Amino acid sequence: VMIARTMSDHLRRLETLFTLTPQRMRIIVEAFKDTLEAGLEKPDQIVPMFPTYVFGWPTGKEHGEFLAVDLGGTNLRVCLVTVQGDGKFEMTQSKYRLTEEQKQEDGQKLFDFCAECLKTFIDNSLSEGHGQFQVAEGQKIPLGFTFSYPCLQERIDHGVLIRWTKGFGAANTEGRDVAAMFRESLEKYKLPVELTALINDTTGTLIASHYVDPRTKIACIFGTGCNAAYMEHVKDIPKLNGLGIDGSADIAINCEWGAFDSFEHEHLPRTKYDIIVDESSNKPGEQAFEKLISGRYLGEVLRLIICELIDEGVLFLGQNTYKLENPYVFDTAFLSLMESDPTDELLMIIGIFSHFFAVETTLAERQFFRALAKLIGRRAARLSACGIAAIVSKMGYLEEGCVVGADGSLYNKYPGFADRIHEGLFDIFGERGRNIITKHAEDGSGVGSAIIASMTKKRK
Ligand code: ADP
Repeated sequence: VMIARTMSDHLRRLETLFTLTPQRMRIIVEAFKDTLEAGLEKPDQIVPMFPTYVFGWPTGKEHGEFLAVDLGGTNLRVCLVTVQGDGKFEMTQSKYRLTEEQKQEDGQKLFDFCAECLKTFIDNSLSEGHGQFQVAEGQKIPLGFTFSYPCLQERIDHGVLIRWTKGFGAANTEGRDVAAMFRESLEKYKLPVELTALINDTTGTLIASHYVDPRTKIACIFGTGCNAAYMEHVKDIPKLNGLGIDGSADIAINCEWGAFDSFEHEHLPRTKYDIIVDESSNKPGEQAFEKLISGRYLGEVLRLIICELIDEGVLFLGQNTYKLENPYVFDTAFLSLMESDPTDELLMIIGIFSHFFAVETTLAERQFFRALAKLIGRRAARLSACGIAAIVSKMGYLEEGCVVGADGSLYNKYPGFADRIHEGLFDIFGERGRNIITKHAEDGSGVGSAIIASMTKKRK
């Protein structure tokens, strides 16, 4: 006879599946290090370690006015940044939400939309007479384009999109120079701007964080996607040999680490829920690390567990649960809310399930959901710690310590995410792990884009 398993049996089973021991983490760190090295060694590796053509750190003395367009996973942001030196800056920005259609339609149309938003922003700024923002006849304002998808660059103002990530799939874009495509859109709208730098949000965050706090050596993004950047010695990048780049220079590397363990799936502890997320995604096999960590997927993992237990007759007995059956309806923000519910009755969780999914919950169910959110969120943070530890260990930053600039909604809004990363670093490195601290990089990608635009201006 099969004995029905209770929620607490399931919780115990899931705890085992989702918990990462320090030992397991150290094994992941070693594999991660090897993968980073392989990416520096040769082109076309799973974790591509893209040189960004951002050479060295900002001096902190950069200044001027710059525009930035930031195409993230969820929003499009347009920013005007006044870089003032001494680690100071000012910024005004507008946000535009992207629709699912825009993410899937023709790529040129997507860039046209970006240019249109930039035009609206410039027109509004000019008409409202914001600060010193004025454009003289024939003058062009330097524009940094933050485009956070894997691109192969040959110089700072160019980049061929390797593949879309984060659920994007706009046609006629992969394999093409997105800077040139965006320039075409900018010309269509006759905008008084010059696209001087194509950068990734991680690289922007790296440079912006260092501008504000020179102890910064690494930057990470935990948003719709998950990625990291750091500063590497050109001499330690074998694949750049023979390209005429100064061997004594340093260059920022956009790791694109979300791809770690893609296709081979040898190193990461994937559960059956992660495998379903992967196989039903628009890019099966790809972005294996990102799929265990980023905001786009964590809610979906929880939803899949809930659906399985509905099918097994463990949850929501006798209720119509159709609203929970649509993929991706369970936003990662719900996990945040569930974990931070301050009431004994877990009233926030009652609200989420009744309001968004039209189901009633028992207290035991709510406690179970909160425990699941914790397992999923904690695993994401501890895996992130493994990636950070790999770079720290490779670069020898452990003794001296360093700051890791971090940004993205998951980092900024998920309760305890940063603490769990720090706890993970402690589990990997012991006491010395405390020398590595993460720090929120305010508006990193936009400000970084502007600072990089100013660094490249100086170079010309
Ligand atoms: P992007 O990476 O698209 O530029 P964000 O950093 O805002 O933008 O990340 C968006 C992702 O963060 C989405 O996947 C969303 O589900 C998730 N998210 C939004 N709010 C929260 C929150 N309060 N807690 C955890 N995750 C969140």
